[in-house]
Parts: sequence; C-alpha cells; structure tokens
Amino acid sequence: MPDSVELVQWEKSQLGLLKRKGGLVLKKWLIVWLSVFCSVALPGLAGASGPLSPYMISEIKLFSLQDRQVVAIALDDQIPGKGIDEVLGYRLKPSFDEQRQADRLTVTLSNVSLSVKELPPEFPLQLESLEAGRLKISLKGLAASRAEVSTVHRKTVKARDGMIRLRTYLVFNIPNGLKKNQPTVVLDPGHGGKDSGAVQNFIHEKDLNLDISLRAARLFAGKGWNVVLTRRTDVETTLLERADAANIVNATVFISVHHNSLPEETMHRSREFGTTVLYNSSAAKPAYDLARIMQDELIGSLGTQREVMQDRPKLVVLNSTWVPAVLTEGVMMPNPANAKLILDRFQRHRSAEAIVRATETWYGRKVLAAKKPAKPRSQPAIRLTVNAPSVGNQAGNSANRGIVAESAGWIYYLRKADSVSGNKEQTLWRFYPDRFMSDQLVADQEAWDINVTAEGVYYSNWSDRQTLYLVAPDGSNARKMTDGPVQQLGFSADRVVFVRNRNIYTMPRSGGMALQLNEDVAENTVIRDGWIYYANGSDGFRPYRVRVDGTGRSKIAEDETLFLTVAGEWLLYSNLSDGEKLYRIKTDGSGRSKISEDRVGYLNFDQKFIYFTHTDQKNALFRILPDGVGKTKVMEGGTVAGPIGVVNGKLYYQGLFQELK
Ligand SMILES: [Zn+2]
Repeated sequence: MPDSVELVQWEKSQLGLLKRKGGLVLKKWLIVWLSVFCSVALPGLAGASGPLSPYMISEIKLFSLQDRQVVAIALDDQIPGKGIDEVLGYRLKPSFDEQRQADRLTVTLSNVSLSVKELPPEFPLQLESLEAGRLKISLKGLAASRAEVSTVHRKTVKARDGMIRLRTYLVFNIPNGLKKNQPTVVLDPGHGGKDSGAVQNFIHEKDLNLDISLRAARLFAGKGWNVVLTRRTDVETTLLERADAANIVNATVFISVHHNSLPEETMHRSREFGTTVLYNSSAAKPAYDLARIMQDELIGSLGTQREVMQDRPKLVVLNSTWVPAVLTEGVMMPNPANAKLILDRFQRHRSAEAIVRATETWYGRKVLAAKKPAKPRSQPAIRLTVNAPSVGNQAGNSANRGIVAESAGWIYYLRKADSVSGNKEQTLWRFYPDRFMSDQLVADQEAWDINVTAEGVYYSNWSDRQTLYLVAPDGSNARKMTDGPVQQLGFSADRVVFVRNRNIYTMPRSGGMALQLNEDVAENTVIRDGWIYYANGSDGFRPYRVRVDGTGRSKIAEDETLFLTVAGEWLLYSNLSDGEKLYRIKTDGSGRSKISEDRVGYLNFDQKFIYFTHTDQKNALFRILPDGVGKTKVMEGGTVAGPIGVVNGKLYYQGLFQELK
C-alpha cells in the first residue's frame, strides 16, 4: 500500500450489502478503499444498513521455516461486484484486540465463523471460540514474547459469479530465536495434478517444474535459506494460493518454475527460441534485475538460446505477490533439442543450480546496496562525471568500439551472430528496454562502429568497405556518407570525428570533405567537450589530447596505455608500463595514481563505478570505485574479452545487457 495514499473507510454496515439473519452487529471490520484508485463515491452503497454476516475462517496455514514458524489465519468475505469497477481497491482490513503479558499473547477477533474446531498439535497456538462470534487466539511461553502479529491481504478478485472475494490473513510470525536474518525463498513448481502444463515430446511440464524446484529447494536450504515450496508433490494448487505463500512469509523472493510451450500456430517460431524469464515491472516490488541475472545464469548453464525477456503484469503469480517475483521458462519444450536436454537429470540439476546462483547473486547485491558506507571518508570520493558530448554517443563508447548507443529510449547495438540474426556477426539492432517486444533489425549489414545523433543512426558498414552510412532509427533511408573507411566513430558539435588508416579525421555531420587532423597514429579515440583523447601510436601509445580543430595537442602521461577512456576531468587507463594495472590521471596531466593492482583490459564507467575486464580472470567483468575501493565481480568470465558499453544505466558486455545499480 503506498504510504501517501489517503484511506477512506466505510464500516461494513454502511455498505448494506449483506443481509443477515440474527447475529451480532460488530463494526470492527472495515473494508478499505484506496482513494488513489477511485475518486468518486460508489453509487448505491451508502445509506443502506443491515446486520452483518460473520467473516469466514476457512483455513489456517502453518509454515515451518528454519528460523521461525508462521501461522496465517485466513479471513474471507465477499461483496456483490455490481457497480464496482476498481476491484483492487477493496481490502478486508480486520481490526483485532491484542493483549500482551510476560509469557502470553492473546489476540481476539470478533464476528468470525470458524469451521475448524481444533488445530493439529504442531500448530504453536491455541484457539478458543467465545460467545457472540468471538475467537480467542493465544500463544504461551517464549514464543509469545517473540511473536509479531500482522495482516497480509490477498489480491481482491471478482469471481465468475459476480461476487468480489476478499481475503486477509491474520499472520503470527514466531521466531525460534536460533538464527536471524535468514533470507526466505518461495519456490513455486508450476502446474500440478490435473493441470499438466505444457505437454510436448511426451514430457509433462509439471514434472519438470517439480523436479527442478525440489532440487533448488535442497540447494537453497544447504546455503542457509528458509525454503517454502508451494507444492511438494503432484497436486493442483491455485495461483492465488501460490502467491499467498510468498506474501504470508514475507519472502525475500518468489520463483515460479516453468518450461515454455507456445500455441500450435507459432510452433515454427518456438523452435528458434529457448530460455526466458518473466517479471512484472508494475509489481509491488519489481524484480527485473533478478530476472536478467536468472536468464543469464540459465542460459549459461543450459546453453540454450536467449528469448526476449517478458514483462507480464497480467500473470497472476506476478501481480498478486507483494515480494520480488519472477517466473522462469527454462527451455522451449516443443524444440526437440531443448526437450532432449531437459530430460537429462544432469541438466535439470544444472537448472536448479543456475536458479540458486542467480538468486544469491541478486540477493548479495541487494544486501550490499542496503549497507550504508561505514563512516564518512576523510577525503571526498572522486566522482566520475559523464561530460556528455554535445552530440552522439555517451560514456566513452567510441573508445569501446562503438558497440552500443542510445537514442530516444531505444538502445542500438551490434548483435552477436545467432539464428535470429541469420548467423551474421555485428548486424545493427535496436530494442526498447523493459518492454515485451522483439528486438528490431535496423541494418542487415555487418557494422563496425555505431553512433547516434539527431539525424539518425550512423554506422561504418563492414559489408561495404567500412564506409559510413546514416540510417533513420527504424532502418529506413540508409544513405552512404563517405567513400573511405571509418572507424572509432564519434561526434563533436557539427563534425564527425573518426579514424581512417590509423589517423584522425573530421568532416561535417552533413557529409562532405574529410580532413586529416594530424600525423599521429591514433587508437582508443574518445571525444569530450571539444577534445579528442587518444593513445598515440607515434609516441609509444602514450595518452594525448588535441582539440577537434587540431590545436592544443599535448601529452597527458608518460605511461604506455593499453586502453583508455575519459570520465569528466579524469583519464582512466590500463597502464602497460605497469603490468596493465588500472590508473587515473587528470586530463591536464596532474593527479596520476594507481586505482587497482588488477590486470585490466577494456574499461568504461558510469557515474559511479569503473567497469573493467579482468585479464587474469578469463575476462570476468569487475567494477571498482575510482578511489580504488568497492571492487566487485559483476559477471563471470568466459574467455573472450569484449568492449564494454554503458548506456542509460545499462551495461552491455559480451552480448548481454545488464542493469547498473
Ligand atoms: Zn507452465
């Protein structure tokens, strides 16, 4: 519930919707209406009155976790749905009387009807029905002193019969005092019982989902997580029940495990695709980050194709969970290769491991992010600033081989060869982040560098001798801008800046004569604020800078650079003169110092961190703060180092996009 929302409450009797025979009218229960959803009074509700029905307690759930027991008493009610559109705005909000003594906790509910007479012995609390529809719930001993009472609502729904069903759990959270702060995962094996899920290639999806979930459950438990499974056997359970489990235990994360199928008519397409993870960007706690990591891990383990990630606000398990939730679609079952693969127990185990690994990575980052810096620094931390070039790409991407660029929310990138690209390497694509939309092809030629301005997308066309092309964002109106080759493509005001035959050239953005700037052999060009920075091959690859008009050429440092980029007033570089270690120096040549002892290949930065590929760790991707602290591994290494692109808070490395936090 948003904090700022003003609550408008009606007592139930004012609704006058439920006619009762007898029974005591107790106005302790409220139906809560959120004004944010609806700003006018609902017609036909006020004025009428009548005795109230008792609220039903139809079930009581117990969750036994490693560090606590959680008991949830389900309170149900329903109202006619006629004239009510904003169903989600209604909640049952029980008020209850809570009494605490040293060794005893008593909670009294009123106006309830309980069908359960006695609880099984494993339940840590006692029930006692009092007169006039009251129910006394009590806990004794240590449990009583530790227990916390709260309410957790289920998403309100309109049923087929036109009634609006409301459910709220009265939740007793009872720590056992043994362990603390254990994260909790709710694993949800999709389908079950009569609902087999997808049935393809003689495999029932429900069985795969259960097998992988049980494996993941064991792995999570072994790593000290509380684990809840929404089913442990081949039984059917409703979608809301699954979400309830996560909400009641206030899980750290909810993971629904599925495998994909597609309707018959799209089957041919399904053969091309593999693994995806679904998330809900409008959820109470969206889990896009987790979904992304999860997809990377699953693909890394299974070697399946990358399917577009899906934002699915209408999926029940993703829109009725109040905790971060994702749904994995491990393999595409109609695909025979995928089907064969997942029949292998070893691969199912790998899937489970991938799920656990992704969750731990995500959780680790969350915990890390939640921790505040221990004490104020004696020196102010260096802040990297993106001095955005007046036009064109951001964040040193011209040095990073022009692999990715952003414009009007779209991200343009060079795609690695895959079946979707027709196995062409480096074709130009774009996508709109966080939308369920297939990536779009912009140019079917193999591109070398890309960059974007208001005129459109520029790319050096590898398929046409690296000459420069300009194309509209949607791929139309491609036109050739140069006759000669173009690399290291950047912009400054009205000029295009590029490298040709190892020298720097500039030319007007509208096209025309290209002029050679000087005689230096230039690598890693970065254009910032009217300056071009580069590793000067004519002088031992020391870092230099020169203005776009050719004036002011000067050496910045005596070090031989392997790779460089520029962040605000800082030049960042891997220093070949000192074992490829990471250095910084101000662009005026002052303040040189070592940032890290690691061997660094490619590098880039966002406004806070420097990202680099680690030469001694199979080119794993790391990040570090510019003053040399806070080093963490962002992505495991493969073997191939790739340039690092940073656009709009997203990082692009080895063909994978990743959110920056
Ligand atoms: Zn499924």
